[in-house]
Amino acid sequence: MSIYILNGFTCNARIPRHWLCGTVELLVETEEGLTLVDTGLGTEDYIHHSGIIKLFQVLTHVPLDPKEAVARQLAKFGFVPEDIKHIVLTHMHFDHCGGLPDFPNAKIHIYRREYEAFLNRPHQFADLAYVKRHIAHKPEWVFYQKTCEKWYDFDAIRLPFEPEMWLVPLPGHTRGLCGVAIKTMKGWLFQASDAAALFNNEAPKWLIRLALGPHNERIRQFGIDHAEVNIITGHMWLDFFEGKNLVIPTSENKTVLVKA
Ligand SMILES: [Zn+2]
Repeated sequence: MSIYILNGFTCNARIPRHWLCGTVELLVETEEGLTLVDTGLGTEDYIHHSGIIKLFQVLTHVPLDPKEAVARQLAKFGFVPEDIKHIVLTHMHFDHCGGLPDFPNAKIHIYRREYEAFLNRPHQFADLAYVKRHIAHKPEWVFYQKTCEKWYDFDAIRLPFEPEMWLVPLPGHTRGLCGVAIKTMKGWLFQASDAAALFNNEAPKWLIRLALGPHNERIRQFGIDHAEVNIITGHMWLDFFEGKNLVIPTSENKTVLVKA
């Protein structure tokens, strides 16, 4: 079984022009069925642009290529959208959960605090990136709350999947944002989502703190201290998605879904 890393939304800065970014979605083979961690934009987002996408069209350069919709990318792995049984969300911003309507039969696993932030009336700038229609199809939810468990020294919540998976609350960018840690054959893959920008050595610390919350330095140090943890973030430079490490084995078992 493996984890496949996909780019579900290209979003490039206008200034500086060399900040070319994709958005990380994980396609994870689990004993419980094919699982996504975040969805990127959905097919509908490319047809009817929400207000926040229109704002991104002004502030950033977004090619909006519908081929980036994860539902369309599945074909290259031999999968169809109905194969997705579960979706774990790091947070509910449009660029991380816009694809929910493309997988209407999947169960959605989320930290309850994030779901509540999505439903509440906007009261901080980042709340403008929640798009209500992304859950208009009334998906089936599985909610998680804080426990006393730990993943390393982070407060964490064990998810009901094999390979072992943890939700790691890292609030700041949104009120209920979580990272997701997945056990691999060599250690762990830790998707820190929009709580960190480890790939970016140019952005000033105050800007990272303002946009992503207080966790960036802790996660950076954690990565230095734990070589067995492969840390990625919600957005990575575009060339990362052309790299060689986009398929990460988690076990030698094959799922029934994997076609030879
Ligand atoms: Zn976000």
